[in-house]
Amino acid sequence: MNKDLSIFERSRPGRRGYEPPRPPFPARDPASLFPASSLRRTPPALPEVSELDLVRHYVLLSKKNTSIADSFYPLGSCTMKYNPVANEVAAAMPGFAWLHPFQDDAEAQGFLVVLHRLERWLASLTGLPAVTLHPAAGAQGELTALLVARARHEDRGEGKRRTVLIPDSAHGTNPASVAMAGMTPLAVKSGPDGLVDVADLRAKVGAETALLMITNPNTLGLFEERILEIAEVLHRAGAFLYMDGANFNAIVGVTRPGDFGVDLMHMNLHKTMSTPHGGGGPGAGPIAVREEFAPHLPVPRVLEHAGRYSLEWDAPKSIGMLRGFLGNSGVLLRAYAYLRRYGGDGVRSIAEHAVLNANYLRARLRGDWHVPYDRTCMHEFVATNRRIKETGIRTLDVAKRLIDLGHHPPTIYFPLIVPEALMIEPTETESKETLDAFAEDMLRIAREARENPQLLRDAPVTTPVRRLDEVKAVREPRLRHPCPNSAVVSSGLGSAASAGGR
Ligand SMILES: *Cc1c(COP(=O)(O)O)cnc(C)c1O
Repeated sequence: MNKDLSIFERSRPGRRGYEPPRPPFPARDPASLFPASSLRRTPPALPEVSELDLVRHYVLLSKKNTSIADSFYPLGSCTMKYNPVANEVAAAMPGFAWLHPFQDDAEAQGFLVVLHRLERWLASLTGLPAVTLHPAAGAQGELTALLVARARHEDRGEGKRRTVLIPDSAHGTNPASVAMAGMTPLAVKSGPDGLVDVADLRAKVGAETALLMITNPNTLGLFEERILEIAEVLHRAGAFLYMDGANFNAIVGVTRPGDFGVDLMHMNLHKTMSTPHGGGGPGAGPIAVREEFAPHLPVPRVLEHAGRYSLEWDAPKSIGMLRGFLGNSGVLLRAYAYLRRYGGDGVRSIAEHAVLNANYLRARLRGDWHVPYDRTCMHEFVATNRRIKETGIRTLDVAKRLIDLGHHPPTIYFPLIVPEALMIEPTETESKETLDAFAEDMLRIAREARENPQLLRDAPVTTPVRRLDEVKAVREPRLRHPCPNSAVVSSGLGSAASAGGR
């Protein structure tokens, strides 16, 4: 069997997989259900294959992919930890999986209990009492928090505050969320130690400042040691302190942002709480806030009264609905299962091992690789190509060579304040043996850069697709399979399509 054939090339007219029995009532004419403008005039050019061909198509595709389930994945800032199978079992339980979004509260008590308890967990881990689980990603959590902060300022008669300060090491979603929330971003410099330059912050805080968005630990993997002073600068000026909590894995169970002055924060459950995190989602980016912001949180809120749970829609100061329904329920169930497995006292070990693993790897690499902020780090650290620069080998080449050696590359060219950055986050779920194997391969790459640089320039050679022309891929994206349509897909589909319209 030729494994390189696409599903379109495997297609043969009239070939079918399983066909469900027709329902015992007459088919309705689609034209009676939908306006004519919504009906397609030509049948879709779907491939016609057997069930076995279809299964092979997906299995072969999955083998071309890479994931945390088959390799080390030290993608900085993404916290690619193991996703425990027990979480999947919880999310697939029929009582949860078959619930309908419009189910009556009375019939969804089990699910509402889980949501309520997960909110309480996150409140106690963050030290911030009010939580919403609605946001579907970290970036949407940022947007939610900004809208909530804006509503709070307006409610206090401070609606003119529309400037949002953002350190120059921040993730690109921060300024994008600020723009979406109708506010104006303003960059704050980092000092030579990689932390927020507090003097620059003081100079930029003013009567227009709505809040500071700080990432702690920051994207260099460093804890903002002057966070108490930073909080005070903001609060004295009547502004809020927001924390981008995407890096919560480094501190979860050890310290609570609410205790170091944070007013609002988001978390990425698809990072810290081990829910799957690939291909863009679905994820979950809950936010936790101080009590004074609670009236502005999105609706519906999950309420508990005398052991009964219900959805509360009546909240006149709420920013309203953020998205459909209550959040990505399967992701929230996985996060809850994960926290239950660790238990209240166990959560701290997540952060402790994440930090230990990152420092172990940093210590192993710092001889052969330049580590610009070379001191005890949190959950990740940044290295660069500086020590092999004379060979002409760039960070991109290093990343591609790592693929050939069986590792997912680290995040590269981020944060922007470090040229040729390699941002390495091993997470707590990797063994010492895996970290050692990666370290050996990084040292090998440093050697190869001097002795056989062509090996690095040609990489990857073990993948279905070799080195891409990244500029061309952006300018001329080819998003369709080159060989669909009439030659392969017969008109036989016409009957299948109309049958499908029953
Ligand atoms: C991942 C990340 C985000 C964005 O989270 P998404 O879930 O991808 O939207 C924001 N900030 C930082 C620091 C991150 O690492």
